[in-house]
Amino acid sequence: MSLRELPSVEKLANSLSKVTPLPKPLIIGFIRRELDNWRQQIIKGDDPKRADIETSITEKINHFSASRLQPVINGTGVLIHTNLGRSPLGQTAASALQKIATGYSNLEFNLPEGTRGKRAEYLETALACLLDAPSATVVNNCAAALVIILRHLANGKKNEVIVSRGELVEIGGGFRIPEILETSGAKLVEVGATNKTHISDYEKAITPNTALILKVHRSNFFIGGFTAEPHISELSQLAHKNGFPLVEDIGSGAIMNTDELAPIDHEPTPQAALRNGIDLVCFSGDKLLGGPQSGIIAGNTDLIAGIKKEPFYRAIRCDKLILTVLQESIDEYLRTQADPSQTDIPTLKNLAEPTENLKLRAQNIIKKISKTSKADISIISSTATTGGGTMPTSQIPSIAIAIKPTGISLNKLSRTLRTSTPAIVGYTEQDKLCLDLRTIFPWQDKDITNKLTETLN
Ligand SMILES: *Cc1c(COP(=O)(O)O)cnc(C)c1O
Repeated sequence: MSLRELPSVEKLANSLSKVTPLPKPLIIGFIRRELDNWRQQIIKGDDPKRADIETSITEKINHFSASRLQPVINGTGVLIHTNLGRSPLGQTAASALQKIATGYSNLEFNLPEGTRGKRAEYLETALACLLDAPSATVVNNCAAALVIILRHLANGKKNEVIVSRGELVEIGGGFRIPEILETSGAKLVEVGATNKTHISDYEKAITPNTALILKVHRSNFFIGGFTAEPHISELSQLAHKNGFPLVEDIGSGAIMNTDELAPIDHEPTPQAALRNGIDLVCFSGDKLLGGPQSGIIAGNTDLIAGIKKEPFYRAIRCDKLILTVLQESIDEYLRTQADPSQTDIPTLKNLAEPTENLKLRAQNIIKKISKTSKADISIISSTATTGGGTMPTSQIPSIAIAIKPTGISLNKLSRTLRTSTPAIVGYTEQDKLCLDLRTIFPWQDKDITNKLTETLN
């Protein structure tokens, strides 16, 4: 093919805009870049066919189009899947979001007085009530919460932060405790060994420059065997005797005892941390709490007031959409405190759903998929996990639909489902694609039935 025979941008864009929902300027930019590449190839001596060029550009545009943020049916059995957006929101929170998002609100306006109001005042009071804490506030995520705590407490000469070697955690996605400390201007003082840290290790590390002791929850791994660490109350006494605070990053922070909802480990609660003598605790809003991405800080009133006065606080404050969803989530906890089984928080509902119900749904789905020659479909017992850096050893009994394709390859089947609308993501086990019902909502069963029928017939 000669350069002059290359397809025209305009013609290609017209035909592609019929098969992809992308805005035309994106399609045109994409085609221009791709044609430039082909032009270089031709100059180098390649002789591509027109059809190959068109197929390649279409494939690439579909690939790009699939990266657009869109709903996914989560069949992985991982309840708080960081790649799939962590915690889904309940109906109450979602409809409140819709109302606030499409109009004006009293974000910083005192309605009774008609004067300027305080942002998140209601939410902070509700949070403090729920967490049984003197004070609470909220920022963009738990990483930001930890950074602002460190910036406030560890600065100037008094910047040493004591951390046990067993807690120098990497959470993933560039979150490593030593690096977070460094960015915050704090100086890390490591104590103890990986498996054992004694109270005397902490004691020996204290200097006039010690700013705080930091505890970090081992969210995504566990240490077993020959291990020891001092009790929080001992550490708290040590810190207070020496005149500095004890801070804990508990990561997920379950508000209720999650081990009462499902046969899983006990995840530390912020309430217990504060009761045991932690001065400030921080945790994520979109892990086990089941709310929006946010970082909650709770504890000592003076410390929280100081944090809120930091200029950096302004850079990590939440917007009204997050504040609305979090407000609804916290109210939901307060409303259902007496009977958690009534909760509207999807993560908790999915966690607590009886396996028998999942089995009934799986049977229903299978019954509806017309007889297919392209796969053997069965119901299997599976194991769901909490994910999201919580309870790494937890195994929640669950039910999955297992599809062993016979007409098409396993890869092709998985890819077809992943790129359908809505996208369906499962996990593979040997020669089967499995869809775990614990993370699939009942209202998505119809989509699963339809897509499987369509793909396997
Ligand atoms: C998940 C986690 C974080 C990070 O929380 P984000 O809200 O994602 O910023 C920090 N610390 C611990 C211990 C965690 O488990």
